[in-house]
Amino acid sequence: MSTLYVVATPIGNLEDMTPRARRILGEVDLILAEDTRVTRKLLTAFQIKTPLESHHQHNEGVKAAAIIARMQTQDLQVALVSDAGTPAISDPGARLVAAAHEAGIPVVAVPGPSAMAAALSSSGFEEAAFAFYGFLPRKPTELKASLKALQEGPPLAVVYESPHRVKALLTALAEVFPGIRMSLSRELTKVHEQTLRGSVETVLDAFRQDEGLLRGEFVLVLSLPRAQKAQEAEPLSLEARLMDQVVKGFSLREAQEALVAAGHRKNAVYAAALSLKTAAAERLADSQN
Ligand code: SAM
Repeated sequence: MSTLYVVATPIGNLEDMTPRARRILGEVDLILAEDTRVTRKLLTAFQIKTPLESHHQHNEGVKAAAIIARMQTQDLQVALVSDAGTPAISDPGARLVAAAHEAGIPVVAVPGPSAMAAALSSSGFEEAAFAFYGFLPRKPTELKASLKALQEGPPLAVVYESPHRVKALLTALAEVFPGIRMSLSRELTKVHEQTLRGSVETVLDAFRQDEGLLRGEFVLVLSLPRAQKAQEAEPLSLEARLMDQVVKGFSLREAQEALVAAGHRKNAVYAAALSLKTAAAERLADSQN
């Protein structure tokens, strides 16, 4: 039976190739690669001789249909890879995967490196909820609008950036969210790997002082001000949020759990719940007098 394997590959360090990824790439009939020249180097390093075909954002629609048709008529084991990291994460692949599901072809993930997970795990921010946005728009006005809109989402935002535009992104970020706390990882898993953490101004300053920092690939993790504001205004706004959940039919305990899961500090949520309970008890006592 045909199967589509979605295989993650290293983002810079060949030691991150998992034994399973290596085995699957060696066993399948065909590897679909974003850039066959890039993937050929990887395969050569691991002495894998599986045939390669290209599958990139410009031919994905046509290619996906043709591959799925072949997989439906013959027993064809196919692996999808991108140039580096996990396919379909800011990389081509989602259309092929969707087409495989629609055709009833099993899709198997072969997980491994992703710049997003590597940067998030080394950012040191404690909030559980985050959103991944890939690359933000290039045009300055669109970039600023999309930065402002990040506040609508969860407390952490993860974005990718290229060396040509990282300074422009940091400058726009400092304008839209002065003082924002962030972590910037460059060259993850490579010799010059570095993670800078602090305010956006500190990070921008580091770039101004050392042009060498511009070399490489970047992932930014942003701790958004909305989360900070929510913490400053916690007792009142958290009480209102808890009440909102209770009115919707949840127990106070469930409401507390939901707010903690959404990234609010446990102590603050507990304090807000306690103050609600106290207020309710006082009102009850008043009504009985
Ligand atoms: N699908 C890939 C993944 O899961 O990691 C991401 C592909 S996306 C086209 C490429 C972007 O990922 C780069 O511009 C950079 O923002 C980020 N990236 C990839 N490798 C990186 C690395 N070694 N260090 C830092 N960022 C990296």
